Amino acid sequence: MLKAVVNLFFPKVCYACLNLLNDNEDTICIDCRHDLPVTNFHFDDNDAIKKVLYGRAKVENGTALFRFEKKGLVQQLIHGLKYKGYDNIGFFLGNWLGGELKEVEAYKDIDIVIPVPLHKNKLKKRGFNQVAKFGQQIAKALNTDYKDNVLVKITNTKSQTTKGRISRWMNSEELFALQNASTIENKHILLVDDIITTGATLEACIAVLNQAKHIKISIATMAIA
Ligand SMILES: [Zn+2]
Repeated sequence: MLKAVVNLFFPKVCYACLNLLNDNEDTICIDCRHDLPVTNFHFDDNDAIKKVLYGRAKVENGTALFRFEKKGLVQQLIHGLKYKGYDNIGFFLGNWLGGELKEVEAYKDIDIVIPVPLHKNKLKKRGFNQVAKFGQQIAKALNTDYKDNVLVKITNTKSQTTKGRISRWMNSEELFALQNASTIENKHILLVDDIITTGATLEACIAVLNQAKHIKISIATMAIA
């Protein structure tokens, strides 16, 4: 009864097409679920992500849930997640991809899920990292840990003052640093992000993660552009 009243005043809409949801639908309507451009990279052993990073970063496996198309459903979803704060989109997409990855041999030995971090100022402004829920749900599905205290995004100035305590990756416009390196030694890491485009951000993150000993890295993103 209460739910019906709430729905009357705050009707639930599909986060992809913005049409009203039926009672049996949640977050994304049935039509959109069928229409979303899934890649199935992880089922097809497709190495598109590896190819993006070829010669720049070594990755074991990589996948993206969707292909990103301008003005398409995926753009609508990621926009809602990033700029409108609808973080149940991240929850939904993490459940979706996590549920699939746990069936794929190549992802069964993942030990830790690590998100591409936001700078703390941006985190403060946005209130949340848009890939947090996505990564947490994948970690849950794979029965592994989610760690957001290992890889951090830093500024030039901060890196100067803490020089020596943390090391950083110099050849990128984006600066990342590694903390608690010993907690990821000898582990297979699944690095998660929203969209992979040029791969520059992931490349910078991987270079920093590789300062830890004997790690393997795989990638999972919401979309590939
Ligand atoms: Zn829809």
